[in-house]
Amino acid sequence: MRLLLAGIVVMLTPELIAGSRVGVYLDFDQPASRTATAAMQKEAADALRLQGFDIAWRMVAENQGDEVFERLVVVKFTGACASEGFLRPTREILVLGTTEVSSGQVLPYSQVHCDEVRRLLPAFEFATDRSRGDVGLGRAFGRVLAHELYHVLMGTTHHSSAGLAKAIQSTDDLKSDEFFFDQTDWPVAQTSDMSSARRTAPPANRAVSP
Ligand SMILES: [Zn+2]
Repeated sequence: MRLLLAGIVVMLTPELIAGSRVGVYLDFDQPASRTATAAMQKEAADALRLQGFDIAWRMVAENQGDEVFERLVVVKFTGACASEGFLRPTREILVLGTTEVSSGQVLPYSQVHCDEVRRLLPAFEFATDRSRGDVGLGRAFGRVLAHELYHVLMGTTHHSSAGLAKAIQSTDDLKSDEFFFDQTDWPVAQTSDMSSARRTAPPANRAVSP
């Protein structure tokens, strides 16, 4: 069952989190831009590294089942993850990413909706220099991905009022030169008691034009 993020906080100590190696398996609906994928991986890895996670990128299609990771996440990318210059822009609020939840447990299966990100960022989608457009889009994909990985790695539906863990990100957030997690997000989630943390989160990881 896919919910837009309803679940409970899993108690994780900083010791468990620090230096944790995470295998993130990517599964693209359509061939993705290499430039956008590289920018996405850098953006997400940088954000998670600041929280003590070391991400190893893998493709689902190339998985031989012979690697072991402390944590493993599978991420499906819908739509075309590249600047193609034809998706109609919108100012609607769109769902950019989701993570699976079952029986109150956050599962390690997420989705990033590339077409929706492209529709919110016409400056990149219609960039004259396609490579620059892909870099900008890739960075935005990476921010959506980092948000979903936060839910999975923390086992939480918690959202914050600032940074990458916000439930709704503006197009300025997605486009800005730097946008990371608010440093209070992770310690709060790690030390929350179950009663205060057990709650239903609003639909998550959406974006809205300013
Ligand atoms: Zn969320």
